[in-house]
Amino acid sequence: MTKTILITGGAGFIGSHLCEKLLSEGNNVICLDNFFTGSKRNIEHLLGLKNFELIRHDIVEPILIEADEIYNLACPASPVHYQYNAIKTIKTSVIGVTNMLGLAKRAKAKILQASTSEVYGDPLMHPQKEEYWGNVNPIGIRSCYDEGKRVAETLMMDYHRQHCVQIKIMRIFNTYGPRMAENDGRVVSNFIVQALKGEDITIYGDGSQTRSFCYVDDLVRGMVTLMEKDHFTGPVNIGNDSEYTVLELAEMIKEFTGSKSKIVHKPLPSDDPVKRRPDLTLAGKELHYKPAVPIHEGLNKTIKYFKTVL
Ligand code: NAD
Ligand code: UDP
Repeated sequence: MTKTILITGGAGFIGSHLCEKLLSEGNNVICLDNFFTGSKRNIEHLLGLKNFELIRHDIVEPILIEADEIYNLACPASPVHYQYNAIKTIKTSVIGVTNMLGLAKRAKAKILQASTSEVYGDPLMHPQKEEYWGNVNPIGIRSCYDEGKRVAETLMMDYHRQHCVQIKIMRIFNTYGPRMAENDGRVVSNFIVQALKGEDITIYGDGSQTRSFCYVDDLVRGMVTLMEKDHFTGPVNIGNDSEYTVLELAEMIKEFTGSKSKIVHKPLPSDDPVKRRPDLTLAGKELHYKPAVPIHEGLNKTIKYFKTVL
């Protein structure tokens, strides 16, 4: 049976790859986006397909649609963008997620929420397991995003317990790849764009903070597997568990681009997590998930993409 799948945030970086994958599997895809950080360019190659539909809409407003599955990705993901209008960001995760859960309940659709490693905040447990409740500042500049995503998880669980909605909670760790926005502000896109333009590579702080970077194809595969898995709600971590310091990342990108850019240091933003690496044991056990794309391969594909857009 052909499924109809709603992807909110479908014109964004991860969403556009997910649209492609689900279309290639023969589904009808409805891509819904308010184009805050997403762009038509990300999905323009899909616009002519008969099983693809695009709706400009903001999930903070209710909408009536029929769908079998909902992937709720709508939410700005980079600190620069989610802090631009912090109140709108938290509304997207609270009112927006409530709207999507209401839709799932009425349409009897399965719903997957794109949660985040940010629910762990500046973690005191390393690597981060799903049982860890996190160390999040409720009143800081990252709170609109972190606390918003935590409430989104709460809403998902409550709709599941109270209304038996079939839910999936996926905690996404730093993901990168083609179609990240050039002005996105996240570390991988910033460093690649700076290296290719010969501008200074801006490390915030001393660069000893760590992140674990997942190539978008691995992440999207994990996402679809989670949606298909019966009787498993998560939360489950999905990402790549190879951990690098931000300085190591800058040096790799300098080397892979052959750039002569200088590495410079800028002040570290407040509440910037010191370290982050997913424990992927649960994803391995429940979803047989294992990231396949090593960092040099993923970075080179992303560099190739940015060379074509710059
Ligand atoms: P992105 O900014 O490229 O995509 C988000 C999309 O949502 C954009 O197309 C944007 O226009 C749209 N959007 C934002 N607010 C909306 C609203 N109110 N209504 C409708 N559309 C709206 O970011 P991304 O990296 O593709 O992230 C996708 C999802 O994954 C987000 O929910 C994000 O929180 C989550 N996530 C991403 C990462 C990562 O490393 N990329 C990590 C953790 C979680
Ligand atoms: N970062 C950096 N230079 C940049 C952009 C980001 O050093 O130009 C750092 C940032 O301070 C953080 C890490 O890189 O320590 C990852 O930042 P990003 O915004 O990509 O993701 P998040 O902090 O949400 O994991």
